[in-house]
Amino acid sequence: MCEQIKLKHQSAGKCEIRIKGQLVSRDTFTLIAGPCTIENYEDLLSIVMKLKQMGIKFFRGGAYKMRTSPYSFQGLGEEGLEYIKKVSDETGMISVSEISSPEDVKIMSEFIDILQVGTRNMHNYPLLSKLGKISNPIILKRGMSSTIKEWLLAAERIIESGNPKVILCERGIRTFENFTRNTLDISAIPAVRSLSNLPIIVDPSHSSGKREMIKSLSWAAIAAGTDGLMIETHFAPDTTICDSEQTINFKMLEEIMKPLQDLISLWDKKF
Ligand code: PEP
Ligand code: MN
Repeated sequence: MCEQIKLKHQSAGKCEIRIKGQLVSRDTFTLIAGPCTIENYEDLLSIVMKLKQMGIKFFRGGAYKMRTSPYSFQGLGEEGLEYIKKVSDETGMISVSEISSPEDVKIMSEFIDILQVGTRNMHNYPLLSKLGKISNPIILKRGMSSTIKEWLLAAERIIESGNPKVILCERGIRTFENFTRNTLDISAIPAVRSLSNLPIIVDPSHSSGKREMIKSLSWAAIAAGTDGLMIETHFAPDTTICDSEQTINFKMLEEIMKPLQDLISLWDKKF
């Protein structure tokens, strides 16, 4: 049994996050897709144009990559941010990218629409407090070994610091199971819905680490009441530098989206 958590900011009223004409809330469904990492401008533009054609409004892509190994590709950095901004300006699509250091808050808040706090930074309290000083919405991923209470209190820290626009993201937790990269905690969805008014989205890509599981996990998450999905997508997943095994192609994304309207109608959501 999870003891009730004292949340000053998340326990009453509706949380509605508006960004460039889109609404992220309990009443809407937010689909975010795109590559794990930005590799070059041309590929990013081509991916984002295709996503737009498919009716998607949000794209993701890392410029600063938090890799477990210091020898893995760490991202294009500022050059990547410039590509994201350019593509977002050209297509009108809303950008999501990960912030990993308090020093980057200023530049990222200018270049990126929605800043993502990754699983490795959920406990980075100086970063969370600084994100409370900007007006961009924040996607707060659950720490891979964090309880729901710790996660909601991390969100509370951003809100208490001044920024109420927090979107929670369940991205799988560490368990004894090692067939999958992490274990998607489906029960976190109804738990968060009962404890907090913040929108919660699910990342089936980092949860499973396996592209063949993305469709079932996405549908399961929608049935459980998620307010959105963030899915790593690329036109040629096998060629990507980062997370290719879990990245899906557009055909797979189309298949996931086919029953979307019916599935989200279970929860009276709009897409
Ligand atoms: C990501 O979304 O690019 C990412 C690194 O995810 P996580 O922090 O969940 O591992
Ligand atoms: Mn990734």
